[in-house]
Amino acid sequence: MFKVEDIRKDFPILSRKVNGKPLVYFDNAATSQTPQQVIDVIVDYYSNYNANIHRGVHTLSQEATDLYEQARQKIQSHFNAKFSHEIIFTSGTTHSINLVANGFSSLLKKEDNIIVSALEHHSNIVPWQMLCERTGATLKVIPMNEDGELIMSEFDKLLTEKTKLVFVNHVSNALGTINPIEYIIEEAHNVGAAVLIDGAQSSPHIKPDVQKLDADFYVTSAHKICGPTGVGMLYGKEKWLKKLPPYQGGGEMIAEVTFEKTTYADLPHKFEAGTPNICGGIAFGAAIDYMNSVGFDTIASYENELLDYGTKKLLEIEGLKIYGTSKNKTSVISFNIEGIHPYDIGSILDKLGIAVRTGHHCAQPIMDYFKIPGTVRASFSFYNTKQEIDTLIEGVKKAKMMLS
Ligand SMILES: *Cc1c(COP(=O)(O)O)cnc(C)c1O
Repeated sequence: MFKVEDIRKDFPILSRKVNGKPLVYFDNAATSQTPQQVIDVIVDYYSNYNANIHRGVHTLSQEATDLYEQARQKIQSHFNAKFSHEIIFTSGTTHSINLVANGFSSLLKKEDNIIVSALEHHSNIVPWQMLCERTGATLKVIPMNEDGELIMSEFDKLLTEKTKLVFVNHVSNALGTINPIEYIIEEAHNVGAAVLIDGAQSSPHIKPDVQKLDADFYVTSAHKICGPTGVGMLYGKEKWLKKLPPYQGGGEMIAEVTFEKTTYADLPHKFEAGTPNICGGIAFGAAIDYMNSVGFDTIASYENELLDYGTKKLLEIEGLKIYGTSKNKTSVISFNIEGIHPYDIGSILDKLGIAVRTGHHCAQPIMDYFKIPGTVRASFSFYNTKQEIDTLIEGVKKAKMMLS
């Protein structure tokens, strides 16, 4: 049975105070907190196994290599990739997307087009704009509606036989919308386009099956799912990873180097130049273990309860508008109060120990669509409580009173 009070004991940071008040952490869409089980793995690594991997003949190096490769297998199994060499360790979602965008430089022609959605994080927009600058290909955008949902009939119109790639997030970090990626993948494949799914915001709530989805690429960051920052992964179908050229050159990614010619290592090492974030990779595996021990069905149903409760309570505040009103969404609430700047609300909430995000959430096109500078975003995780939401509601009411 899921008991939030027991879960909270796993997270040391949740018992600290901020500005003299108990911390209420509602910035989970920016980064999640770290449970003791993952912190222990980090301490254990530097206390007992710290060594460079894949190179040394000595015991420590072999032990570190084994732990790192076990983590890769945990990630493979979690996302249900067919092979462990389809999991590439990266520094995070941004790095993963840049790796793929760079690889497509040699595959795109001037007359080709690639498709993004209106709901994207800047990290799933800018690398593709850079790709279009390099290749002359065209970037098209799937529009959204007032509820913050992508308009699929418009997507169908954008697809042509010249479409080579479609990249959308599974869940929007700014609005929480869950996108119909099954449909998007199927339609894109019908014209022969590859699909990259940005899973940074879905991974904390949904356990995706990349084979069932038939995604060509799926990317995420460990820090959104209770792991450390600076590590993440790229899942790519073997056939694509074989086709794409390496992103960075260096140690570990080669088979043989002479000044005349270098041959590249097999997957996954071809994309893993240099010493990686070894401890981070191992802790990423531990974070996945932790999330699975709580259980994704449990996480999703509890977070939905928090979402419904928070939505209902916030809407009772006069003048408050929620952006992102799809029925299909995760526990992210983006809102504004009429006539008040989101930053001012965020500052007052911080004085009360409540951590929310304010601003454009790295998704300026969404803010432009709604013609607003930004929003206040409260994003809930499975370690949050309804009492904390009550504290938020009191805080927002207080902010409104002070600012209007
Ligand atoms: C957080 C996030 C990113 C960026 O992740 P990094 O870890 O900063 O690389 C990209 N897309 C979405 C949807 C996100 O939520």
